[in-house]
Formats: sequence, C-alpha cells, structure tokens
Amino acid sequence: MPETLRFALGRAVVTVVNVGDISFDLRGYLNIPETELRARLELQCIVAQRTIPIQCVHIQLPEVSVLIDAGLYDFPPESEYFLAGYSPPAGLPTRLAELGISIEEVEHVVITHGHWDHFNGATHFVDGEHRAQFPRARHYLGRPDWDRAGAKLRDPQSLESRTLGVLHQAGALVLVEGDLALGHGVTIRAAPGETPGHQVVRIHSDGQTLYCLGDLYHHPIEFKEPWWMVAWAEPASIGVTRRAIMAEAVADAALVINTHIPGVGRLDAVSEGVEWGAAQLPPAPVLRVHS
Ligand SMILES: [Zn+2]
Repeated sequence: MPETLRFALGRAVVTVVNVGDISFDLRGYLNIPETELRARLELQCIVAQRTIPIQCVHIQLPEVSVLIDAGLYDFPPESEYFLAGYSPPAGLPTRLAELGISIEEVEHVVITHGHWDHFNGATHFVDGEHRAQFPRARHYLGRPDWDRAGAKLRDPQSLESRTLGVLHQAGALVLVEGDLALGHGVTIRAAPGETPGHQVVRIHSDGQTLYCLGDLYHHPIEFKEPWWMVAWAEPASIGVTRRAIMAEAVADAALVINTHIPGVGRLDAVSEGVEWGAAQLPPAPVLRVHS
C-alpha cells in the first residue's frame, strides 16, 4: 500500500504517511452476513483482503502545523498484527523530517481515539524516560477515551501510561469534550462509535474541505452500508455519527481520509448513504525542507 501521499487542499499541504501495513482479518471483524459475502461479487475484495495500512495525516497551513494520529510500527512476531516477511518503512518522525516537516513545529497532535495504533508513537524513550515525540505540541484526546483508560493509566508499565499519561503529566494533553475549533479552518468534531471518545478532524481551506475520519470506517463498503461495522463499534452511536458527518461531508464535497483505508477518498450520495471512491488529487506541492 502507498507509503506517502501529498496533495494541496486550498492553502493547506496534506501529507498522508502510512507507518506500516498490519495483518488484519477484515472479514472476521466486519459484521457482514455470510449470505451477502457469498452473493455479492463486490464483496470478494473483503474476503481476499488480509492487510490494512496505518495512515497518519499531517496538515501544513501557513499559520499552523497539525498532525492527526501518531502511530508507531513495532510488533513482536507473536503479535496478531505482525505481517510475516514485511519490512516496514522508517518511523513517522524520520519520514516527516524527510518530507520537510519539522517535528518541533507541530503545534497540534489530534489523537482520533484511544486505540493503540493511533497514539503509540506520541512519545519516545530517551535518556531513560518517555518524552513527547512532538515536544511543542498540544495533544487532543476525547475525554471519554481518557476516562475509559483509567485502570491502564494507573499501571506505570502500560502503553497508556508511557504515552497519554506522560503527556498529561507534562501538561501537553487536552481532554476534549464535544467539538473544538483549533483555528485556521481546523476543527475537531466529536464522532463517537468506534470508541466513546472517537473524534474526527475537519479541515477547510479556500473553499476546499477534508475530513480525517480516523476509524469511523475500516473499508469503503461501510460508507454504502452504514450498518456494517467492526465488532467493537457501538452501533447506535456510530450510526448517528456516520449520518451526521456524512451529511456534512457530502454537502462540503469533501475529501476523506480513513486511517485504515489506503489513500484518499471522495464521496457520492447514493440512495442508502454515500459511496466512497478513490479521489483524483491535485498535484503535490513542495514543502520547504528544514535544515
Ligand atoms: Zn485504528
């Protein structure tokens, strides 16, 4: 799956970085009835799909640098996500630097939700302690996901303690309730369902709009069939969230990026919901490279 994509959105430069593909049993996790899977040819791609990417998104506006999710690819071979024979690309900080993005200048890191693949690269271990990987950034996590991590945050060895707990201690973690405008057309929107504190990010610049949808969807078919979803999603709340966000995104003629759906999508309204299609992207602009 592509490792990096870059495109212009109004005055913003959007960079999508796949930190690595993981082994993932989409067919097993999605609640698609077996009869449908057998009957519909278009669903054979789900039966065949064995991997998904972990895509983080960087938004560079003239005024502000924003990162959406901070993933780190580090699986022991015994992990269910380990992909045998796969060589992951370099880590997110290295990749961002290669792309001309200074990690010191990242002002906001939005953590879409409290699942490990979205925040495990938010800190790094240096000089015997865990520190923020993006040292000047404020990090944003939905408060319900912080509350849900309660017991793990009391265990100093847990991933949550070494990342979210460290950021909280440092005063670098904002616990978000509801929607939050970050300025310059960037807004965090509460989008519960995947987790209670799940949030998406809307970027609007010079009449163009992008939604970074986190894990609101894991496969394009869920856009058209909004009652199909991963086993751990909460059906009532994700249903409400999907309806509300999709209505806005279609009205905005927005592009969409999902963490685990490769690439960038555009949306078309269809009778039951919306249809996701691969977007034709404008040419990639060049960012200045930091020395
Ligand atoms: Zn995820």
